[in-house]
Amino acid sequence: ARLANQIAAGEVVERPASVVKELVENSIDAGATRIQIDIERGGHKLIRIRDNGAGIVKDELTLALSRHATSKLKTLDDLECISSLGFRGEALASISSVSRLTLSSKPADQETAWQAFAEGRDMTVQIQPTAHPDGTTIEVKDLFFNTPARRKFLRTEKTEFSHIDELIKRIALSRFDLALTLTHNQKVIRQFRARPDPYSVERVAQVAGKVFAQQASFVESGHDGLKLYGWVLPVGCSNQTQYTYVNGRMMRDKLILHAIRQAFEETAGAVDTPGFVIYLELDPTQVDVNVHPAKHEVRFHQARLIHDFIVQAVKQVVLSERPELPL
Ligand code: ADP
Ligand code: MG
Repeated sequence: ARLANQIAAGEVVERPASVVKELVENSIDAGATRIQIDIERGGHKLIRIRDNGAGIVKDELTLALSRHATSKLKTLDDLECISSLGFRGEALASISSVSRLTLSSKPADQETAWQAFAEGRDMTVQIQPTAHPDGTTIEVKDLFFNTPARRKFLRTEKTEFSHIDELIKRIALSRFDLALTLTHNQKVIRQFRARPDPYSVERVAQVAGKVFAQQASFVESGHDGLKLYGWVLPVGCSNQTQYTYVNGRMMRDKLILHAIRQAFEETAGAVDTPGFVIYLELDPTQVDVNVHPAKHEVRFHQARLIHDFIVQAVKQVVLSERPELPL
C-alpha cells in the first residue's frame, strides 16, 4: 500500500508547496474560517496546518488516510460542476506515504479529539486520543525522508518557502473572508484578518503591495451570466501582480491572460508587466476546471465569447481611467 501511495504521491506531491496546497484546500472544503500554516525549514522539516473546520469523526480517520477515500465526490455528474476544491481522494494517503504525517481532529459535537497516523509498508492506521480544539491539525514532518530521489529535487529552504508564500498569497486573494496566518521558522510572515467585504483593497495591498493597491483601477462588468471584477494596472510596473480566478479558483489560463494582454495592447499600448487581480464568474456548467489539477487551466465551452467579454471589460476601465489615450 505504501508503494502504491508513493506512486500516486509522485503526481500530487511535487514539493512542500503542493502539500500546503492540498491541506489548505481540505481545510477550506471543511468550512474553516481560520487557517494557521506553520512551516519549518522551507517545509522540509515541518508543515503544519491547523483549522477550525468541521473536523473528522473518529470512525472516519482511517478512511481519510486511505487512497481514493473521498467524502466529496458522490456521482459522476459531480465532475461536471465541482464545488469543492479537492475531489481525487488521494492527497492525504499520498502525502502520508512520503512523510511522517499525523492527523488530529475533533468535530464540535464529539467529546474528545483523536489522532491518526499510518505506519509501515502496509500503512496500517493507528489511532489514539489526543488534546485538540474543534477542527483539524495535520502535521507533516520530514517530507520525502523515504524517497531520496524526490528529496534531491528540493531546492533551498528559501526557494521552497517562497513557493509556499506565493501560494498563500493566491489563496488570500481567493477568499477574503478567511483568516490566514503563515509562519516560517516560528516567525509570522503573513497575517490576513478575515474581511467582511469581498472587495477588500486592504487585502489586495497586503498581497500586491501598496503601490499596486493605490494605483490600480477597479473593474466591474457583467452580462449574460458572465461577471468580471477586480483590479488592473495597465502601466508597466516592476511587481509581478498577476492573479486570475475563475469561480473562486486560482487559475493561470492562457485564454484569460491573452484577453487581458490584448485589452492593454488595444488601449494603453504594449506593457511589459501589467498588474492585475481579476475574478471571473460564470455558470459552472460552462467551464471544465479539472483538465489538469496542477496546471491551473480551464476549458471554457464558449471560449470566444468569454475572451471578448474579458477584453471589453478590461478595455472599458483602462479607457475611462486614462482618457488621454487615443481611441
Ligand atoms: P479529497 O480532499 O480529495 O477528498 P484528501 O485525501 O485530501 O481527499 O482528504 C480525504 C478526506 O479527509 C476528505 O474527503 C475529508 O473528508 C477528510 N479531510 C481531510 N482534511 C480535512 C480537514 N482539514 N477537515 C475535515 N476533513 C478533512
Ligand atoms: Mg483534498
